[in-house]
Amino acid sequence: MNQAFEVYKRLDEISPPEIRFLDERDPFRFLISVILSARTTDRIVNIVTKDLFAKYPDAPSLASADLKDVEEIIYPTGFYRNKAKNIIAASKALGDGDVPDTMEELTKLPGVGRKTASCVLGDIYDKPAIIVDTHFGRVVQRLGITEEKDPTAIELDVAGQLEGKYHYRFSMIVNLFGRTTCHAKRPQCETCPLNDICPSAASFLDQYAKK
Ligand code: SF4
Repeated sequence: MNQAFEVYKRLDEISPPEIRFLDERDPFRFLISVILSARTTDRIVNIVTKDLFAKYPDAPSLASADLKDVEEIIYPTGFYRNKAKNIIAASKALGDGDVPDTMEELTKLPGVGRKTASCVLGDIYDKPAIIVDTHFGRVVQRLGITEEKDPTAIELDVAGQLEGKYHYRFSMIVNLFGRTTCHAKRPQCETCPLNDICPSAASFLDQYAKK
């Protein structure tokens, strides 16, 4: 059994059946929420989008929104000038609001990179999607699942190690595990359920023992 699938099986057993970080379920609103989630927390996005969608509930209304007003509403998410420009431009590109269901079409939208597109493909359309964010990248590297550093290279490497039907769930359970256990600063290797198969465990445990 390969390392990726062993990790999948173990984390699948101990993870909640459904993992969602963003509140919005409507495809258009979900897409906009993911664009806004770059370099901020999901908690802030979930607060900001309540106000944003109360005023601009769909693609046509956000497409014709005043830039300054949108900037003001989404200010807490950071990088608000670029994000406001992108979400208005993406809304214009979407026209009536139908969100595409392919990587190729999604990544043509303003502000939509592979990570954002993968979130939409996996969450909304139930399609195979490896979502590489900072948590996912850190965990799969530490676990020796990949040696790649670039997000797209990590995505393609991991995708090649697991059947497509596991991709989205694997992304979510690894992401959650990174947030709860395999922290960036002090991973909880002592109690980690993967410490017997993790090539990084010994070095972290050694560091902790010396402190
Ligand atoms: S043993 Fe430590 S480094 Fe390895 S996956 Fe677990 S928490 Fe992360």
